[in-house]
Amino acid sequence: MTEQSSRRTAGLVKEITSTANPLIKEIKGLALKKNRDAQNAFLAEGLKLVTDAVERGWHVKTLVFGKAISDQTELKTQVEQVAAKIHANGGTVLEVNAKVLSAITRRDNPQMVVAVIKRQCGSLQDVKPARSGVWIALDRVRDPGNLGTIMRTADALGADGVLLVGDCTDPFGIEAVRATMGSLFHVPIAVAREDEFIKWRPHWPGKIVGTHLAGARDHRLIDYGDKPVLLLMGNEQKGLPDTLTEICDELVRIAMDGNADSLNLAVATALTLFEARRGALPVVGDAT
Ligand code: SAM
Repeated sequence: MTEQSSRRTAGLVKEITSTANPLIKEIKGLALKKNRDAQNAFLAEGLKLVTDAVERGWHVKTLVFGKAISDQTELKTQVEQVAAKIHANGGTVLEVNAKVLSAITRRDNPQMVVAVIKRQCGSLQDVKPARSGVWIALDRVRDPGNLGTIMRTADALGADGVLLVGDCTDPFGIEAVRATMGSLFHVPIAVAREDEFIKWRPHWPGKIVGTHLAGARDHRLIDYGDKPVLLLMGNEQKGLPDTLTEICDELVRIAMDGNADSLNLAVATALTLFEARRGALPVVGDAT
């Protein structure tokens, strides 16, 4: 930081220069799920994600920024603003060198800003139709890139939330968080075991639409109607098990006309969600 900004942020920023510092070790540890569980926190990289988190009221425990931001006037001002808010909410602000930043993010060219954020995750009680009435349920999603992309798609197309059923990849793992591009802070997540989900099914006030390669109906032709819709997507390798297809009101198939056996899970989710939301999405440009 420059002398002037150092004065502005005096008492707010703590400088750390060693990767052996216990705080830095704790932050690095968040790469592992067991430490995310123990600390109830995760790592988000980049000013956009951190700003999204702060604006959406997520608790940022620690903000870490690189010393080198002092060479970039605009970035420095933005970091100072977000740092002041985080500090006012009880968070810690750390200034570190490039070596420490690389160690935390495990990258050679790390983002200049990273943050440790408290996790927020709901349960089946939170799975209720809200703005759009459409929730997405993912059965044992394993690929963090798929999960992050689905969160981003859910956000872009206005789904109410994403429910993770069974043994899913951690939505707070670094790869999944990266792939959400900030949508993690805008789309509620809930988790449930498969048996809990099946038991809870009568509480969903609308229909459950499962997607399946053997689905009897074309996903474009069903009536998504005025009732809430829960779109159920299957595991990347195995698809939906019978225990879950049995609780669906409709099983739909996405038409394909090539050689691929199936669509990628995130792509299939996007296509189905788009159909479910088609009538509600704003028309782009001049529709006449
Ligand atoms: N081998 C798996 C199977 O037999 O179902 C393929 C799973 S696919 C990669 C992952 C998920 O995407 C599926 O469970 C389903 O939810 C959805 N999906 C992919 N292509 C689909 C299609 N053409 N029609 C309906 N759902 C599809």
